[in-house]
Amino acid sequence: MDGVLGRDRQEAREAEGLAPYAARSADSAGRVHAEPADRERTAFQIDRERIGRSRAFRRLQYKTQVFVNHEGDYYRTRLTHTLEAAQIARTVARALGLNEDLTEAVTLAHDVGHPPFGHAGERALRALMADHHGFEHNAQALRIVDLLERRYAAFRGLNLTREVREGLWKRRDSETARALGYGEAFDAGRGPLLEHQVSDWADGIAYDHHDLDDALKAGLVTLGDLAALPPWEEAEAFVAEQFARAGADRADRVRRQEGIRFLMRGQIEDLVATTRARLAEARVRSVADVRAHDHAAGPLVSLSAAALDRKAQLQAFLEERVYRNARVERQVEKGKRVLAALFEEFVARPHLLPDEYREWVDRAGVHRGVCDYLAGMTDRYAPREHQKLFALFEPM
Ligand code: MG
Repeated sequence: MDGVLGRDRQEAREAEGLAPYAARSADSAGRVHAEPADRERTAFQIDRERIGRSRAFRRLQYKTQVFVNHEGDYYRTRLTHTLEAAQIARTVARALGLNEDLTEAVTLAHDVGHPPFGHAGERALRALMADHHGFEHNAQALRIVDLLERRYAAFRGLNLTREVREGLWKRRDSETARALGYGEAFDAGRGPLLEHQVSDWADGIAYDHHDLDDALKAGLVTLGDLAALPPWEEAEAFVAEQFARAGADRADRVRRQEGIRFLMRGQIEDLVATTRARLAEARVRSVADVRAHDHAAGPLVSLSAAALDRKAQLQAFLEERVYRNARVERQVEKGKRVLAALFEEFVARPHLLPDEYREWVDRAGVHRGVCDYLAGMTDRYAPREHQKLFALFEPM
């Protein structure tokens, strides 16, 4: 194979091996700043690696999923959530013959725009930015990969392909996205790629199940509480059968894992089967067909009606019992106060910002620039910065 580039071989493999409706890296609409083609890697493989090496990606390690980072070593953080979602995304993409590299790249980047302190942090920033076009984590993810990462001499941002960037553009109608220049950035008349849709579902499937797992572990809910949940009844029957067969002891931890795995596997298999049927029914035979499909009328990638119903029940349960639990809320209220104090102080006195952001507010405006700084903070960096600014004596 002398003289044949690895990239050429991989692109040929994509051309032959992927389904006709899969996105192919050779057909990418490319990057804002032209770059010479890589010898070994496809365009989407490059993007995946750029995301994995970015500062924003590493910070996911210290950002809250549900439980604030320092509450315990076993709970999911945004980083482990992202890795679990990426695994599911790859599994589904492979089963459907889609482009795994694109799906994985989008999924690895999907949460980088989240501020510290989980959804409470996002609500806090949105309120603080109410008179300045608001805050929205998907638009922020685009801002990070397009502007805020600084790793290359020739351009700001990571200069990702249009397909990966479009995958981050989830809230197409958001006022924030429009104000930040992403309103019509990607042709709003065209439906999302199947790889984009798979990434969204993988995110939801991952957090439904691991949030349940974490809540059980934290004791916010018990296995007994789940009895009221029809999907769990089925899972319990399956688990009982497993134990009967293996004669194992019924340690709650193992019951929990077996049950959650059963639920998750069911959703993934349903997603693959339902999507296959929908693609056949809609006679989708090319990327052009995917783009032309009326996404709002019914997405091509979807769970069945029965599985959607079960998912909704699980989510309502999590919403009531976990996300609005006082123990979780107490942590997030603290986080909101920290963000509000930092925001006010830096907006009033931008000269106190670190050098990088002092320059940035000149360009982005003081409110947006301070918001960018705060959104990038981790759960442990934000309180530390708060202490440095407001504690009369810095703790040793
Ligand atoms: Mg997510």
